[in-house]
Amino acid sequence: MTDALMPAAFLGHGSPLNALDQNGYTAAWRAFGASVPRPRAILAISAHWYINASAVTAMTDPKTIHDFYGFPDALFAVQYPAPGDPAVAAEIAELARPTGIGLDQDSSGIDHGTWSVLVHAFPDADIPVLQLSINAEKSFDYHFELGAKLAPLRARGILILGSGNVVHNLGRVDWNRPEEGFDWARRFDEAAKGCMTSAPADVMTLQDHADFHDAVPTSEHFVPLLYLAGLADAAGSTADVLTDGYAYGALSMTAYTLGAAGISQAPANAVAAPLPSPDVVPTDDTNA
Ligand code: ZN
Repeated sequence: MTDALMPAAFLGHGSPLNALDQNGYTAAWRAFGASVPRPRAILAISAHWYINASAVTAMTDPKTIHDFYGFPDALFAVQYPAPGDPAVAAEIAELARPTGIGLDQDSSGIDHGTWSVLVHAFPDADIPVLQLSINAEKSFDYHFELGAKLAPLRARGILILGSGNVVHNLGRVDWNRPEEGFDWARRFDEAAKGCMTSAPADVMTLQDHADFHDAVPTSEHFVPLLYLAGLADAAGSTADVLTDGYAYGALSMTAYTLGAAGISQAPANAVAAPLPSPDVVPTDDTNA
């Protein structure tokens, strides 16, 4: 048990290739991981474990799942060998009652929604990782309320991490706009920001937003945000924007943290900037 509440987050994961890249988003994820006390375990709610059941991984050695195709071999070679923690899985199932959460002993593992961000946020892979499935049969209310029910885990040193994208419409992707968002994507993402940073329970009203069906054509990448909103609401708190931006017109990369103070990170453009050559390094000399 710890006195302080463990921070929580929602990270917009975007392309699986972010696992191999170093950019402003990955720098922000890394800064978040470095800012938190060492978690007892990480519980991830990933867009990519979207099934017709409520389950939590309960194996001691969850496998790294490469649940995509058409990407370079280097991405299939990534391993995230974090252990599991069956005792924490049992705690989660107990906490969720009367909501039933099954203990998955062998079918799932750590999917790319989780490992593509954890390779940056917790690169040592030495903290136990569990995943909670997103039950595709359940309503947004169910997910928001389950997020709130998980709130006591924060006092037990467990870091809860949603991984998805607030705006995610692969059918509308425009490869000529690698760092831009369409107007509808920007409107929806900004509306979500307004909710998360002032009244997180209001994310439930986003279902009525005029751009909802463009931004959220399917639920799986959006629902992880509802878990962070539920956690924030349970804490009587609001979320902070960790980083933001758009990809290919139709994805937003916005990430949020909850209860994470003192995150220090270099601006995104400082990460990508080349090192200065010796002849342009400023000196104390001036020509004035
Ligand atoms: Zn994804």
